[in-house]
This record gives sequence, C-alpha cells and structure tokens, in this order.
Amino acid sequence: MSKVMKMKRLLVIGLTTIIIACSGSEKPQVQDQECFSTGEKTIKWTMVTTWPKNFPGLGMGPENFSDYVNEMTCGRMQIKVYGAGEFVPALGVFDAVSQGNVQLGHGASYYWTGKVKSSQFFTAVPFGLTAQEMNGWLNYGGGMELWEEAYAPFNLIPLAGGNSGVQMAGWFKKEINSLKDLKGLKMRIPGLAGEVFTRAGAETVTLPGNEIFLSLQQGVVDAAEWVGPYNDLTFGFHQVADYYYYPGWHEPGSTLEIIINKDAYESLPKDLKAIIKYAAKSANQEMLDEYTARNNKALTELIDKHDVDLRKLPDSVLRELKKITDDVMQDFIQDDPMAQKVYKSYSEFKEQVINYHRISEKAYIDTRELD
Ligand code: CA
Repeated sequence: MSKVMKMKRLLVIGLTTIIIACSGSEKPQVQDQECFSTGEKTIKWTMVTTWPKNFPGLGMGPENFSDYVNEMTCGRMQIKVYGAGEFVPALGVFDAVSQGNVQLGHGASYYWTGKVKSSQFFTAVPFGLTAQEMNGWLNYGGGMELWEEAYAPFNLIPLAGGNSGVQMAGWFKKEINSLKDLKGLKMRIPGLAGEVFTRAGAETVTLPGNEIFLSLQQGVVDAAEWVGPYNDLTFGFHQVADYYYYPGWHEPGSTLEIIINKDAYESLPKDLKAIIKYAAKSANQEMLDEYTARNNKALTELIDKHDVDLRKLPDSVLRELKKITDDVMQDFIQDDPMAQKVYKSYSEFKEQVINYHRISEKAYIDTRELD
C-alpha cells in the first residue's frame, strides 16, 4: 500500500470513528445510576481499627477504604468499620485479623514491634523516609515484598493505608534550647523516638491520644507529640502548652496499614482482590492529601487565633538526637535477622533517595523561598 493510500485509509477510519462517536449508535449506553450486576451474593466483611470511630485524619483511612470498595463493587462487597474498643481493643487488631476473627484491620505497623520487630520500618523511624519516599520504597524499592514476608507467618497480607506526612516535634511547656533542656523532661513520645529521648535524659511515656490533654494539663507530662496541626488543634493542646516545636524528626512520614487475613483474601474472586488493592492505594494517598490541605489551615489558626509560639528545634539538638538514633537503631536490630534485612533495604533506599531529593525536592523547595 502506498503512503498516500495509507493516509486516505486512516482518514476514512478516523472520520468513521468520529461519526459513530457523535451518533453514539455503536456505543453501549450505560445508565448513570445503575451498576453492572453479576447477581452474586453480597460479601460482608468486618474491619477493626486502632483509631476511635471516624477519628479525623487517621480514622478516615478505614472509612475511605470501605467506601471505595463499596463503590467499586457496586455494593457487592461491604466492609463494616469498627473503632477501637468497639469490637476488639485498639491493640488487639493484629491478633483479631491474624486469627481470622475478622477479615480486615487498620492501624500502624509499629504498634506490633513486640511481635514483629521489623514492623517498625513499615510505619516510620526517626530521621527516616518521608511519605513520598516511603511510597517509593514500598512500591518500587522492595519494601512491600519485605513487609509481606514479615507478616506471612501471621497469616496476614499488609497494604499501605494512609500517611500522616511529616509530623510536628510536639508541644512543650518550656523552651528547648539545648540537649540539657531534655534532662528530666517528662514527655509523651512512643516507640524508637521515645528510646532516643530516654537516652538523651528525658523520661518518656506512651499514652493514647485521648489521655494527652489531661496529662499535659495536670503536669503528668511536660511535653507531648501527637500528629500535626490538624489533629493537635482538635485536641486543644495549645490551651495547655505554650511552645509548638518542629520538625517531626521522629515521625517524618508515618505510613498506616491495612491488614487482611490471608485465608479470607484467598477466598475472594480475582476482581475483588484487585479492588481491595486499588482501594487501599487510594486511601493511602487520600489521607496524605487531606493532611496536606488541613494541616496548613490549622497551623494558621493556631498561630493567628491562639497565639501559639511556633519554634524550630535547634540544629544542635537535632544533631545530637540523630547521633543517638543511630545507636538506638543498632541495638534495636541487633538480635533480629529480619529487622536487619529490612533495615538494610530501608537504609540503602534512604541513602539513594536522599541524594536525589537533595537536588530535586529539597533544592526546589529552597528555590521557591528565594527572595
Ligand atoms: Ca506521632
């Protein structure tokens, strides 16, 4: 066929397509308000969570996930979400899903470090990866495969199900100007970061979110970290502590998790398995989007309306905390081969992404602030 003939033929095909598209005669008409139905039985699953029901930000992860699955399956699969304590206690979520008492759970993997040490890395570690970097590591850097390996002995399949973004360093009743100011400081700060603060001379405690306000008010603690402006404003911490410190060196991009009982998952048809996967991906991104939008609005309110004293932790303090973190980390992974394996993958990814983000994200954000 000559070039001219080919062109003519393409033109005819193109015009025909346009005519058909305009007339609509060749396209099946989909009714807006109806779904394609296979007539199959509705599948009803239960999801337990570590958050109070409908808790802003974190607790919207499971709600969004449930809505997406319902919408994408046109109601063929329905997931009922229970808040912490409604079905099982917050810290009973892992076991409930692992044992198959329920099919799904939503929480944060680092709550389970007592059972699975490596799980710490799938939420956040001090001076670790940001939200964007976590998603990169999990989806393209081998993180997800390691997470699956870590949870396999518990008959669980993990998925990322939300992210807080960079948190705030926390609320303090007194100024922090040097490491000495941490000596004897009573602070609510859980996990590895709590251990870092303890080694810096502070007395750290782990308190659930709803106990922080009263503990600060009554002087049980002198300082507390929670999430960021959006959640912190709701709890009213500005009423009981004067200084709001940043950055959240201890939780730079906490990934939340969706856990699925493996037997329940295997019983699903292929399309529902795919829908669960993509609903989780949507919920993961959605939470970060919500925090990004709401945090800056809440911070403005904290400063303009409530006169909060916003402070950056001095570099000298952060430098020391970073050094202590390295020691804490070595001790943390020491006796656990899986934690060592995950730490290796995480650290290698971090090193590479730091090199790239130094000349991309960081360089651009600095550039944007030039006078
Ligand atoms: Ca936190």
